[in-house]
Amino acid sequence: MSTFENALKQLGKSFKVSGVTDETKERLSSPQRILEVTFPVKMDDGKTKLFYGYRVQHNNARGPFKGGIRFHPQVDLDEVKSLAFWMSIKCAVANIPFGGGKGGVSVDPRKLSEKELEGLSRAYIRYIADAIGPEKDVPAPDVNTNAKIMDWMEDEYAKITGDSSGAVITGKSVENGGHAGREDATARGGFYVFQEAAKELNIPKDAIIAVQGFGNAGYFMSKFLEDARYNVVAVSDSKAAYYAQEGVKVEEVKKKKETKFICEGDECISNEELLELDVDVLIPAALENQITEKNASKINAKVILELANGPTTPQAEEILEKKGVVVIPDVLANAGGVTGSYFEWKQNREKETWGIEKYHSELEKTMRKEFRTVFDFAKEKDVSMRTAAFAIALQRIEKAF
Ligand code: NAD
Repeated sequence: MSTFENALKQLGKSFKVSGVTDETKERLSSPQRILEVTFPVKMDDGKTKLFYGYRVQHNNARGPFKGGIRFHPQVDLDEVKSLAFWMSIKCAVANIPFGGGKGGVSVDPRKLSEKELEGLSRAYIRYIADAIGPEKDVPAPDVNTNAKIMDWMEDEYAKITGDSSGAVITGKSVENGGHAGREDATARGGFYVFQEAAKELNIPKDAIIAVQGFGNAGYFMSKFLEDARYNVVAVSDSKAAYYAQEGVKVEEVKKKKETKFICEGDECISNEELLELDVDVLIPAALENQITEKNASKINAKVILELANGPTTPQAEEILEKKGVVVIPDVLANAGGVTGSYFEWKQNREKETWGIEKYHSELEKTMRKEFRTVFDFAKEKDVSMRTAAFAIALQRIEKAF
């Protein structure tokens, strides 16, 4: 089953409980617009190489399309369509005035020089520039893209259109209209959700936790958990997983990863083993389709907090549900990122600058409030938190229709 088919399965599951019309379901079952671009980039050896990219605009009933840009060899249309769909749901769950979109380029950025990466980022924007804009479609970072790349893209867009407000892209550097709060907003938002969930699900104060993925989302989440004295015993990246029964020292692992590998020798376990560890909470923060029907029965965590997008397939979720594992869904758990992006966009448009305290307190308010909305709905209707989150989103989007 493709990732987009899985996403539609989630839509189908929440449709009845949401009470929305068939027409709403149908409208959300396909993206409004799909852009596929093929563009040349001049490489350092003087030759030109063609790259393939996408921008999927899923739905804009609630506001401009919103969603990150991913650089990864696995990027394809099915993946970008799924991610765009989840963005429509997520922005509605967070109750921010955006629709859903997503972009991506099929590329391994680690194989590019800095100059080639800049050339690729600028070329991609040139090819989609007429489809994006502060009121149309607002991209942001995702896997393997960061503030520097957003700055290049924003600059290219400003050159083409003359619009230098910065509001076309979020996740920019602070010097270029970004906000210092955005860098850790996804994990911070996820941590607020975690704290609310801990109260409701009796997660112990010294809970044992494993985090898959040690990039933006996974690293900051591990840090917040460590600071709050939870016991993070394992973290991983695409190459290996590091296990330390007494608890991972997050900053030390980060330094190690920057200079060499995340682990060495006996400290290493496989990524499969990390997912199956006997922990209280498992936090997937890497890529989609990590917990599938193949390994779901082997998952030992009692709670899964999805910081990554789409890490659990619907087939796996059925197995987990039967086992009594509570899944806190991506569209709620990682909505802190897009909520922070909304604050940045709002500031750029209104030519304002928020202090970090205001940024954090607004993020906290949103995340705690929407956790409650989703949790209470799930309890009242006796459905999973994912079905509840989707149902709430469907109702909010239908209202906008
Ligand atoms: P990132 O590129 O900063 O980090 C990704 C991490 O995952 C890296 O450490 C990488 O080595 C690791 N990884 C890749 N494949 C893996 C595998 N098979 N097993 C274990 N680790 C693996 O990306 P990010 O921004 O942290 O995004 C991670 C996830 O969170 C994605 O699903 C993304 O869509 C989602 N997300 C991110 C944000 C954000 O603001 N960054 C917001 C919402 C959702």
